[in-house]
Amino acid sequence: MQSINSIFKNLSLTQTLFKRRFNDKKNHEKKDSNTIYVTDLLYCPLKPRLREQFKELTLAEAYNPSTLQGSLIHESVERILIEELNAEVEVPVTKEITIDDEVYKLVGRIDAKKDNVIIEIKTSKTDVGIPKEEHVLQLRIYVNMLNAEHGILLYITPDRITEFYVDTGISDDKLIELVQDYVYTRRIPRHEWECKYCVFAKVCPHKVSVNEDNNAS
Ligand code: SF4
Repeated sequence: MQSINSIFKNLSLTQTLFKRRFNDKKNHEKKDSNTIYVTDLLYCPLKPRLREQFKELTLAEAYNPSTLQGSLIHESVERILIEELNAEVEVPVTKEITIDDEVYKLVGRIDAKKDNVIIEIKTSKTDVGIPKEEHVLQLRIYVNMLNAEHGILLYITPDRITEFYVDTGISDDKLIELVQDYVYTRRIPRHEWECKYCVFAKVCPHKVSVNEDNNAS
């Protein structure tokens, strides 16, 4: 049987891991109203607004073991890319986009860059459906923003570790359209599966519910 002391020792390690993830998340949330994260363009445009309104729900997401596991894998792969390939990691990128005379600053952080090639690291519980549409889109946006030669999506899953190449960046017109979707809150939700996994589904007036009992006998 565990003594009270050993229980607290375990908790302090767990706390250390989650605290780091929590602080990363807290820093990521700070931005001004004309700054748009690249990741905001990939998902439902309501989420960043609800993130502001329901900060506690956002921060509670930091205590998700599977995302913590993903970020730990991320960090170790980045370390390997530095040591083995001399890659740059966590490279910031920005681009200004004007919509209706208003200037927006699109900002992102590329996982790794080697010469003029962009590398994005993705983790997933399964290899079904990879590469995911939104991950390819993210990489194509980065290729545009950095005017890179091409991009690589590196997937780490329990079933498969593999890479996919993306040769072309998104066009400037398509990028402007994505920023407009965000600014005008168009396409809510962006993906039909999104509400099911959305942390704001508990409070969102636009949640789309899918009846999963349709095929039940
Ligand atoms: S519940 Fe659906 S519509 Fe609402 S913010 Fe989440 S993804 Fe968007």
